[in-house]
Amino acid sequence: MLRRTKILATLGPATDPKDPEGSEYEVLDEIIQAGVDVVRVNFSHGTPEEHLRRVEAVRNRARAHGRQVGVLCDLQGPKIRITRFKNGEVELVEGSKFTLDANLDADAGTEERVGVTYKLLPDDVSRGDTLMIDDGRIVFWVEDVDGHEIHCTVKVGGTLYNSKGINRKGGGLSAAALTDKDKEDIGLAAKIQADYLAISFPRNAEDINHARKLMKDAGGQCGIVAKIERAEAIDAIEEIIEASDAIMIARGDLGVEIGDAELPAIQKKLIRMARYANRVVITATQMMESMIENQIPTRAEVFDVANAVLDGTDAVMLSAETATGKYPAMTVAAMDRVCRHAEQQRIARISDHRINEEFNFIDEAIAMSAMYAANHLGAKAIAALTESGSTALWMSRISSGIPIYALTSHVETRRKVTLYRGVYPVSFEPLSDSPAELNQEAIDELVRRGTVRDGDLVIITKGDLMGVLGGTNAMKIIRVGELPPQVD
Ligand code: PGA
Ligand code: MN
Repeated sequence: MLRRTKILATLGPATDPKDPEGSEYEVLDEIIQAGVDVVRVNFSHGTPEEHLRRVEAVRNRARAHGRQVGVLCDLQGPKIRITRFKNGEVELVEGSKFTLDANLDADAGTEERVGVTYKLLPDDVSRGDTLMIDDGRIVFWVEDVDGHEIHCTVKVGGTLYNSKGINRKGGGLSAAALTDKDKEDIGLAAKIQADYLAISFPRNAEDINHARKLMKDAGGQCGIVAKIERAEAIDAIEEIIEASDAIMIARGDLGVEIGDAELPAIQKKLIRMARYANRVVITATQMMESMIENQIPTRAEVFDVANAVLDGTDAVMLSAETATGKYPAMTVAAMDRVCRHAEQQRIARISDHRINEEFNFIDEAIAMSAMYAANHLGAKAIAALTESGSTALWMSRISSGIPIYALTSHVETRRKVTLYRGVYPVSFEPLSDSPAELNQEAIDELVRRGTVRDGDLVIITKGDLMGVLGGTNAMKIIRVGELPPQVD
């Protein structure tokens, strides 16, 4: 059985060649073979040259393995951070005083104070705020703000390292979503020909629209992913989903802002909302965290990945597990195993998606009808002949156990659908434009891939004219090996 839930893995030093001078991408080969569908290039770390080199390696290795792997570029965004300490770290004791100083030199941090990357931070906080440092491992209570200094009491102490992130409990730190670096990096993502661009810390639909416009101006064709990771984004969630192609439930930063106990309910709600709006959804952060160091996941991690699958996520994401961890391939293999088993559950295969609704588009109606028929007829496969992939996206919003093959001549579309649950890209360059021969060519392609054989039922969807966007208006049910003479 094919895995339906997609695996998104972050690239990093751990996926680079073991020999720093070498060109053998051993680990990359392993994680692609273990089933990675999309890679994340994290613009928070590394240089443009590094990113370009990694993406080129991914595309080369994917081609070598006969696989299609999508590329998601993730902007750093306005993550507010402390700067650096003279000694790299300090030990903070509960109850002691500590100052965040917007004017302090970037390398001048001491036991008493440290700089911040966002000079206007003192304007945004006030007495009584709780600041969460390093994903909440260190907690400050703000005593008062004096000019460029924020005087705090340490509520939870520990070792504080260089460049750790700062969030305010409850959200509301107002830095704009696209920094100057992000704007430059959008050009880099366009150059990379990324399939997706993830926007960090968007506050509203405006932030998404702005990023989309900059991407368009830079000549890129990325789908836009909104990372839901601040409290304000939850308040504007409907318009953000509407403005995006996909959302990411960025549980790391989001949990710090809204509280960890809120996360499970929010995850379920966001997945439901995204699917309902025909958007893609990625569940991210700490899914297999212990595998950074260990060869097997904890039971809790197994349940977390399985529950995200049962919630209906399109993709599950790995961060440090593959970027810097000790066992990237084992982690992907563990995720693959857990997803496949979760997908056997009945709840992952039945659907009442839009069952009582009106459809707005002809291609949407065809997509829904095809899935309904496939689920009730026991079809072996669906072949969606598609230009933009939109028919396959609609289909994949319906839970099912039947694979949806997106047959297309466009490489951009094949790469985009790598993120859609239950959708598999197939390169399809038909020779004929007669409808009957086209059907036969589509079936032949699936037979050649070993996905269907004589006697199997296949549902084909397509338009009257190949090459026309949004033109799907027909559905055909065919028994392999019994293709009748066509009159359509
Ligand atoms: P990050 O985003 O890995 O870029 O921080 C994900 C998250 O915050 O969960
Ligand atoms: Mn984040």
